[in-house]
Amino acid sequence: MSLLQVSRLEAFYGASQALFGVDLEIAQGELVALMGRNGMGKTTTVRAITRMLRTTRGEIRFDGQDLSVLPSFRAARLGIGLAPEGRRCFASLTVAENLMASARSGPWTLEKATELFPRLGERLSQPAATLSGGEQQMLAIARALMTNPRLLILDEATEGLAPVVRHEIWAAIALLKQRGQSILVIDKAFSELRAVADRCVILARGESVWTGTPAGLTREIETEFLGV
Ligand code: ATP
Repeated sequence: MSLLQVSRLEAFYGASQALFGVDLEIAQGELVALMGRNGMGKTTTVRAITRMLRTTRGEIRFDGQDLSVLPSFRAARLGIGLAPEGRRCFASLTVAENLMASARSGPWTLEKATELFPRLGERLSQPAATLSGGEQQMLAIARALMTNPRLLILDEATEGLAPVVRHEIWAAIALLKQRGQSILVIDKAFSELRAVADRCVILARGESVWTGTPAGLTREIETEFLGV
């Protein structure tokens, strides 16, 4: 059984329909890349899965449970950890306070999170607002990990960050995958995504239009759907 099974997902912002039929499956331990040009529905898909957006139709099953009937805090408790687009840490809280605020019991502790991102360990008593963009992104990922999620979702994992920090984050993602963490990742760094993903799902105009392994992602498909 898949850990996450999304079928024929539609989503609405008021009267405006943003998703028209998204199919997405993630097996235990799998890393799936959700790809597509700007505005194609990637973040909306994440909002629907995490139940931040609840005006949806279709099926969202997590470990066999129907998520479509749950509010977002219940979805989080079932084990979906999100590092959202725009990072959204508590700016006035310290790094340690941010991490502890999301902590739930499990293997991920403050110590383990700072082992993964040593820069955070050096800044535990610093307010999150004083971190660089890259460090804030590390904090967002570490916060999601502190919930001890069964599925980790990274929306725009490395967008707009300096190359050296991006490299650190991709290395951390590869390590998490190696340890068996199930991950859904959105990013525009296609070559990094291809290197780390087990499978890719491409969205175009609110629909999933292609699914396959990175090896099957040909130049024609990239040109047609990703504008590469
Ligand atoms: P990007 O890569 O630019 O973040 P995306 O693939 O994540 O894009 P979404 O943000 O999911 O795309 O947007 C999908 C569609 O939904 C777009 O047409 C967008 O304008 C619309 N949309 C997104 N958020 C809202 C909102 N809060 N209210 C109304 N429409 C929205």
